[in-house]
Amino acid sequence: MIIRARIVLTMDRAPIENGAVAVSGNRIVDVGKLDDIKTRNAGHVVDLGEQALLPGLINAHCHLDYTCLRGKIPPQKSFTDWIRAINALKSELSQKDYIASINEGFEEAKRFGTTTIANLTAFPELVGQIQPSIRTWWFAELIDVRAPERANEIVDSAIESLGRARFDPVLSAPWGLAPHALFTASKDLFRRCEELAQREHNLLTTHLAESREEMEMFRDGSGALYEFMQSIGRSMNDCGNKTALELFLGTGCGSARSHWIVTHLNELTESDFDLLTQLNSKFHVVHCPRSHKYFGHHPFAFDRLCSLGLNVCLGTDSLASNESLSLFDEMRAFQKNFPRVSPDEILQMVTVNPARALRQENALGKIRGGAFADLIAVPSKSGDLFEEIVAFTGDPWMMVAGRAQ
Ligand SMILES: [Zn+2]
Repeated sequence: MIIRARIVLTMDRAPIENGAVAVSGNRIVDVGKLDDIKTRNAGHVVDLGEQALLPGLINAHCHLDYTCLRGKIPPQKSFTDWIRAINALKSELSQKDYIASINEGFEEAKRFGTTTIANLTAFPELVGQIQPSIRTWWFAELIDVRAPERANEIVDSAIESLGRARFDPVLSAPWGLAPHALFTASKDLFRRCEELAQREHNLLTTHLAESREEMEMFRDGSGALYEFMQSIGRSMNDCGNKTALELFLGTGCGSARSHWIVTHLNELTESDFDLLTQLNSKFHVVHCPRSHKYFGHHPFAFDRLCSLGLNVCLGTDSLASNESLSLFDEMRAFQKNFPRVSPDEILQMVTVNPARALRQENALGKIRGGAFADLIAVPSKSGDLFEEIVAFTGDPWMMVAGRAQ
């Protein structure tokens, strides 16, 4: 099959006017000018007309478990109060509710042009009952705050559940692990995940330095989160001295930090920036602009993190702190906060950058021979192409793994 559009945006070379992409099975086999593609490839031509064809979008961080919590928690004054509120709502949900919520989330993400998702789930045992229609990196979210002595058991049981699940062979991706955060997962749990990633090459993700209250808890040994975590029996002997980033780097989480996708990094001290400067191997960072706004965190240090060589991606986080799973909305929210960042660079944060974080730089996030045929198209006149894409609202045309949707 050959797909033709007014313009093809490959993300690794100049946009191609009157461009076309040849697809065979679930892969892209060729991309270029329509005439050249027709000469080199057989197959009927699907003409998308006045559209820009681009790689499908990649959501680098979300929790589809909580799709059903959209609009249920109004913004709170305190991050800790939000944790209390979500815990109360979660206690009312059944496994059936979670499965419905996750399925609904996949459908919504897909409707907005997301073809790949890094999804954290607190219920790895349910993963086998869900058949995503987009490419999914499942991350088992792990918490042992109420039973740190069971850290290894918790990790092993999640691995067993993920290992048992049967995924669509065309869309399946390697699974990963997500120690939830330093305030809910023990150092032993982090270390167990790190050992596994070093041995099996799985990806790891975590929430780090998200809120002021987390900073207060770790650095100062005080504040609302400190008190709450203490009240549920967490050992607080790692508090009152180091920042969350210092503790993370001190967990022994190896030198191969490229397998870590770190979400948030909203609250960093000058000494944290010094530490990031000294890192030889950098991790990837996910910023969630609308969730960030919902919680009222300190401004995200985008320029500084980029200049330190960190690969910044965008994510939606969950609908317990966001309004939709649209990465277009997310790009616009980012653009509002960082008007000097070019739309081209913003689009990279939902294509090439997360593809790199998922170790798929040649297979996802770009239109090139050999990559997966995960494509979307949005109406395009001859204006500023990247600006047009970021401004797009609606349901884009899309193809996942060579199948038009
Ligand atoms: Zn999250």
